[in-house]
Amino acid sequence: MSAPTLNPLHPGEWLGMLGGGQLGRMAVHAAQALGYRVAVLDPDRHSPAGAAADEHLQAGYDDAGALTQLASRCAAASTEFENVPAAALSRLAQDIDVAPAAIAVAVCQDRAAEKAHFQKAGVPCAPHAVLRGAADCAGVDPALLPGILKTARMGYDGKGQRRVNDAAELAAAFAELGGVTCVLEQRLPLAAELSVIVSRGVDGQMVTLPVQRNWHVNGILATTAVPAQGIAAELQAQAQQFAQSLAAEFGYVGVLCVEFFVLEDGRLLANEMAPRPHNSGHYSIDACSHSQFELQVRAMAQLPLPEPRLHSACVMLNLLGDLWFDAQGHRREPNWAAVLRLEGMHLHLYGKADPRPGRKMGHLTVTAPTAWEARGQALAAARVLGLPEDGLV
Ligand code: ATP
Ligand code: MG
Repeated sequence: MSAPTLNPLHPGEWLGMLGGGQLGRMAVHAAQALGYRVAVLDPDRHSPAGAAADEHLQAGYDDAGALTQLASRCAAASTEFENVPAAALSRLAQDIDVAPAAIAVAVCQDRAAEKAHFQKAGVPCAPHAVLRGAADCAGVDPALLPGILKTARMGYDGKGQRRVNDAAELAAAFAELGGVTCVLEQRLPLAAELSVIVSRGVDGQMVTLPVQRNWHVNGILATTAVPAQGIAAELQAQAQQFAQSLAAEFGYVGVLCVEFFVLEDGRLLANEMAPRPHNSGHYSIDACSHSQFELQVRAMAQLPLPEPRLHSACVMLNLLGDLWFDAQGHRREPNWAAVLRLEGMHLHLYGKADPRPGRKMGHLTVTAPTAWEARGQALAAARVLGLPEDGLV
């Protein structure tokens, strides 16, 4: 069977987005640049994407009337957050093109299904076991300890995870997480963390962004640097190849992000996937010829996918809500003017009125002619703002 050919949507047509967070907002910007109109479905009146969209349908993701409205207005739809009910995507797919498909989103929503998908695609991942009840905990292979216990569903930014050293801690953590299905992973000696953004069209064409190197603080992404310095070119090519295999394995359409671990012995293992643009890909807006959001829109609208080119070295720093509070816990505005005075600064704020510790409020991408300069400038910016210096020193 030959792959379907592209049937591009015309400018002026409507695209639908389930979810109204910052990922949706940046997708709206990219879609509007290409001449499309966008309708966002999100229950939050102050949703960042809703504020930028041509229309904001303020309703729940399972609201039958709103889904019908979205399906009748839009020619194609996508999702910007991973825990969108798969049923909502299936409902839309009855009438319009949905990319990615509900089935692919469902795999990415469930760590157990995700691990099975890695194995099916021949991509190595951490040694692990799926634990569905207390009895499974008791019978667990001791080689998986010390380990990290993760709820199979609904985890993000390190939430729903417990580090466990022995069988007793495992049993206690399993109970504490509510006795829901979990995956226990062996705790691995990480040398580095990488991620790869791949975009795949309905015709099967695939392109990847350059490999990102990531640093997390308290389970949340803090810093991304591209090019991924200190990572061998063959390993980077392998990560891009793995990401393509994972997308091809489920006939994926749209943008997929795959996170990887590089172990101290040099092995590359897949960690997890996100069925959408990813925080670690935000750098592509300012440092690449085509951003991850443009690649998402092009895949949705059945436009050709360009091979993105990195035109600047860069470092992306996440701006969490913590920055909006001083040491005494009083609200303050970060000193943007002082940062923007530095060379190569690209500030992105998501329009969220209510900063909270750990909440993603924006990001700062620092571009420069060389990786060395990008890192130096990013360190200067981090010091002005009081950001963590992970990956910068
Ligand atoms: P995200 O915000 O990326 O969705 P998440 O909450 O889904 O994150 P993971 O990516 O599974 O969580 O883990 C968060 C971080 O914890 C990883 O980036 C890594 O630093 C660390 N980590 C996770 N699993 C392991 C492991 N098996 N061994 C060592 N470190 C790990
Ligand atoms: Mg992760």
